[in-house]
Amino acid sequence: MDNDYYVCTGCALLCDDIGVEIEGGKLTKVHTACRKGVAFIKGCRHPLDSTVKGERTDVDLAVKEAASILKNAENPLIFGHANSSSGAQKIAIGIARRTNGYIDDTSSFCHGPTVEAIIESKLKTCTLDDVRHKADVLIFWGSDPANSHPRHMSRYSYFPRGKERQRGWEEDRTAITIDVRKSDTAEICGKNGLYQIPVKGDTEFMEALTSALSGKVPKTSYDFDKKRLLELAGILKKAKFGVIFAGLGMIYSLEDFEPLYRFMDKLNSVSSFHLIPMAGHYNMRGFNENLFKETGYINRVKFNGAEVLHGPEYSVVEALRKKEVDAALVIGADPLSSLPRSIVRYLEEIPLITIDPCQTLTSTKADVTIPCALVGVESGGAAIRMDGVEVELKPMVETDRLSDEDVMKRIMEEL
Ligand code: SF4
Repeated sequence: MDNDYYVCTGCALLCDDIGVEIEGGKLTKVHTACRKGVAFIKGCRHPLDSTVKGERTDVDLAVKEAASILKNAENPLIFGHANSSSGAQKIAIGIARRTNGYIDDTSSFCHGPTVEAIIESKLKTCTLDDVRHKADVLIFWGSDPANSHPRHMSRYSYFPRGKERQRGWEEDRTAITIDVRKSDTAEICGKNGLYQIPVKGDTEFMEALTSALSGKVPKTSYDFDKKRLLELAGILKKAKFGVIFAGLGMIYSLEDFEPLYRFMDKLNSVSSFHLIPMAGHYNMRGFNENLFKETGYINRVKFNGAEVLHGPEYSVVEALRKKEVDAALVIGADPLSSLPRSIVRYLEEIPLITIDPCQTLTSTKADVTIPCALVGVESGGAAIRMDGVEVELKPMVETDRLSDEDVMKRIMEEL
């Protein structure tokens, strides 16, 4: 058994207590991680090869070809990043700047607005360590960590003991789920812990809760039980340190964030509540913070000389839908699997580069593929956890593959 502890990059919880056993330079056992983490750490079943136009080649040639595609493009798209180290992300931003390219990541169609509101201090937040030590009321709103972040409840939120929560679990904490279905997390929250709302019912529920917190009778068009709403408002008012874990179920349901801002303001006038976005990919937040530092925006950017353009029209979805990009570099993402076919089909019509440890549907359509080491397992670096805390990563095993940061550096040198 290796006596060091490592970080799992299987999700944005970045658990830093992972033990491993290594024999003959190979990873044989993973301790402490959840099943999702173990599967991730054990690596790809089908590692990516270095190829140009489907023919295997050495990495040098693939890097040269990738740089040549980017140099010849007028409007390249640099997309992905949520599964890349912060070092690779920073160079990706530099490549987009150098090539007058578009740069965007997966937060563009998931947690972008939540992270943006937090970075701009429009929503009060806290760290997961604060949650463990202080939180007494937890709300899983449109999120299901029992499946998405399997160690969330045991390591940080519901079950653990903390400095001000010496008993942990239900003796010290109240866990509530607000969701459209009885998720596995709702089961853990107990008999009265689920507030089941209809699909797209989040805004009304939020507004009704805001009314209840102001002492008014809460109303919803779907006749949610007023007594239960008032009871919930009573629990929230009594919270000493409350946290909302906002999932995509909530974010996709809100047409804008004004009801959320009003709700959080009201909550914080009667108690103390924080919000943490349940980011999925391990370094989505890192990309948002790195791009924000460079440009003042968290995603959806187009460089144009010294000018930085930003807006929905520069999102990956719009850029592909309107066919405004003429080449694409995809790193640490698989848009052909995760975005609608009608939009990503265009990627097959333009020169496409993928950089990834594993074969993906996107890599099977790429003109150039460049393998990289699996970050956190075969290479180190840094990443930013879902709560904004930077975490150092170190490799568990050695590899002869380049790190994602080194691949990006090599492409940049060729530009
Ligand atoms: Fe890895 Fe996430 Fe599981 Fe923690 S909860 S071990 S970071 S997959």
